[in-house]
Amino acid sequence: MKVIMLGAPGAGKGTQAKRLAQEFSIPHISTGDIFRANIKGGTELGKKAQGYMDAGQLVPDELVCDLVVDRIAQEDARNGYVLDGFPRTIPQAEALEAALKKKGENVDYAVNIDVPDEAIVDRMSGRRACTNCGATYHIVYNAPKIADVCDVCGNKLIIRDDDKPETVLNRLSVYHKQTQPLIDYYEERGLVVNVDGTKDMDAVFAEILEKIGK
Ligand code: ADP
Ligand code: ADP
Ligand code: ZN
Repeated sequence: MKVIMLGAPGAGKGTQAKRLAQEFSIPHISTGDIFRANIKGGTELGKKAQGYMDAGQLVPDELVCDLVVDRIAQEDARNGYVLDGFPRTIPQAEALEAALKKKGENVDYAVNIDVPDEAIVDRMSGRRACTNCGATYHIVYNAPKIADVCDVCGNKLIIRDDDKPETVLNRLSVYHKQTQPLIDYYEERGLVVNVDGTKDMDAVFAEILEKIGK
C-alpha cells in the first residue's frame, strides 16, 4: 500500500500518517521530519534547507526529489509507505510518478485532509513537537500527560519555529499556490480520497480507513 497525504500545513497529515503507517505496518516517511533531523544534525542538506523552512517557503524541488526516491527504494519500504509532506509541487509529483513507473508501480491513494484556513492557525499555535522521537501534540486537542513533556520519551516539547502565526500565513499561501494543484493532478488519476479534517482525530482516522476499504 502506497499512500500520499495531501492537505494544508496543520491539517493533520502527520497525525494520520503515523496511524496509517502503524495500521498497515509500513514506514511513515515525512520530508519535514527528514529536513528537521538534518538541521539538528548540522548536515549540508540541513544548512541548505533551513532558510527556506524558517521563511515558510518550500525547499527547492532538486533538494527533495532524489532524497525521497532513495528513501522509498530502501528495504523497509518494499511493501509500501505513507508519504507525508511529499509531493508538494507538480514537478515533485511527476518525479515520484516517473520513479515508480520504472518499477511498474503506482501510488494507491492520495488522502486529502480538508481543513479550512480559519482552523489552521489555531491548530498550529497549539502544536507541540518532540525533537527526540518525532511525536506531535496539541495543547488542547491532544495534550501530553505532563505539560511540555513528551509522553513517549520524556523529552521537553518545543514549538516549531515555523509555527509562529506570521510564518503559518506564509505557509498557507504557499500551500494554495504550489500544493493545492496536486489535488487536481491526483483527481485526474482517480486516486483522491477526500476526508473531512475538522472532525476529531479518531473520526478522521475512521473515515480514512473506511474510504480506503479497510
Ligand atoms: P507541515 O506538516 O506542518 O505541513 P512539514 O513538516 O511537512 O510541515 O514541512 C515543514 C517545512 O519543510 C515546509 O514548510 C517546507 O519548507 C519544508 N518541506 C517539507 N517537505 C517539503 C517538500 N516536499 N518540498 C519542499 N519543501 C518541503
Ligand atoms: P500536519 O502534518 O498536516 O502539519 P499535524 O498532524 O502535525 O499536521 O497536526 C497539526 C496540529 O493539529 C497538531 O498539534 C495536532 O496534534 C493537531 N491535530 C491534528 N489532527 C487534529 C484533529 N483532527 N483535530 C484537532 N487537532 C488536530
Ligand atoms: Zn518524544
